[in-house]
Amino acid sequence: MPSVVETSVACAVCGRESRQRQVKGGGPAGPPDLDLRPRDAVRSTMAYWLQACPGCGYVAPRLDRASEAEKAVVWSGPYRALLAETNYPALARRFLCRAMILEETGELHAAAEATLQAAWVADDLRRPELAREWRLTAVALFRQGPPPDLEQQVRIVDILRRAGDFGGAAAQASALERGALPEPVDRVVAFERRLIAAGDVRAYSVASALPPPAARPHAASRGPSLFRAEPRQRGGLFGAILRLFGRR
Ligand SMILES: [Zn+2]
Repeated sequence: MPSVVETSVACAVCGRESRQRQVKGGGPAGPPDLDLRPRDAVRSTMAYWLQACPGCGYVAPRLDRASEAEKAVVWSGPYRALLAETNYPALARRFLCRAMILEETGELHAAAEATLQAAWVADDLRRPELAREWRLTAVALFRQGPPPDLEQQVRIVDILRRAGDFGGAAAQASALERGALPEPVDRVVAFERRLIAAGDVRAYSVASALPPPAARPHAASRGPSLFRAEPRQRGGLFGAILRLFGRR
């Protein structure tokens, strides 16, 4: 079970000491959604993923570290305006603050992840219009950064579908299908295709996209396969798929 520990932290931007909480531990939580949104038990700890300084509003995994570039973003006009944006839920705003710092310091994929996390907060607070806006922003950030790898491209299909951009999701799926997709990633994309055709914006877990392990593909099947790929230490979507089949 995850536990929450409280420590005193000095902010690297303004120097203010504050009490901050962190999550320690936590066990297996079950397969995430196709955009990697974790299960409820993990999502309920999102309030502790980032620390927020009550003095200057700096947001980071650890407040006691900040580069000069990060400090400059915190004191910038757009960041101060975001901090004052009361239309956004406070926890979502915290992820958006982190996203702005990451975007302004050139970490575009990490900024996309933080923006997507804000969308997950909006999901749980039943603010679908904000969740949709932030999913689309997350995809734009993924695409502005270095070319997304195969795993991120598959996630982008799901993120666009969940934002209700079925045309964009279908175009991304088509781009993927033009390549040789490894099994069972091909089946994940086919599953997304069916959801797109049905106009379905709901969340689905990695498990629901794939048949049970008993129906796993035959070892002798031809073509590229995630199962035969070089073992790599990774979390992510493909790691979750491999765990589902007991391969990780
Ligand atoms: Zn501070």
